[in-house]
Amino acid sequence: MKVGILQVGQVTPEVLVGIQEGLVKTFPDTTVAIIKDVLLVPQEAFDKKRGQYNSNIILSCVKAYSSKKPEFYRILGVADVDIFSSGLNYVFGEAYVPGGAALISLWRLKPVFYKEKPNLVLFLLRAQKEAIHELSHTLGVGHCPRSMCVMHFSNSIFDTDRKQSLLCDECYLQAAIAISNLG
Ligand SMILES: [Zn+2]
Ligand SMILES: [Zn+2]
Repeated sequence: MKVGILQVGQVTPEVLVGIQEGLVKTFPDTTVAIIKDVLLVPQEAFDKKRGQYNSNIILSCVKAYSSKKPEFYRILGVADVDIFSSGLNYVFGEAYVPGGAALISLWRLKPVFYKEKPNLVLFLLRAQKEAIHELSHTLGVGHCPRSMCVMHFSNSIFDTDRKQSLLCDECYLQAAIAISNLG
């Protein structure tokens, strides 16, 4: 499967490279390119009352972009703004299950957000986990009851830190079958 990573707004390049490495290591028969275009954060996604961005609106912009790039089977948008989804105070990401586009936010993955010391290694690991999680959703893989599996639902950063950056055997098999069915 050919995956494109799409920068949405301002994002540090080293994070995109870290995500690229994480995805290549995880998914079989997969190449990952960092797309040169940068998608602007759609201002209509900003919710003034909440001071956050509506993840659904940004995701639909990533999807619209992906329809112009048929050479990629999947496009993962990476944004660095605080995003929310209806019914949730915040989300780490969102994806079409299954579908061509996914989105993650780096905003709440940085240790400084939790008043901790900057830690690039931890930050990159979290970004990889969220990227693998959302991309697996686009392959139709749902949430996994195993708390160590990367497909376990993250309610908070503690859940993200507890789980591994790996798919469990069952989730991996589902993802691998979906990828081989893409042809
Ligand atoms: Zn999920
Ligand atoms: Zn699993």
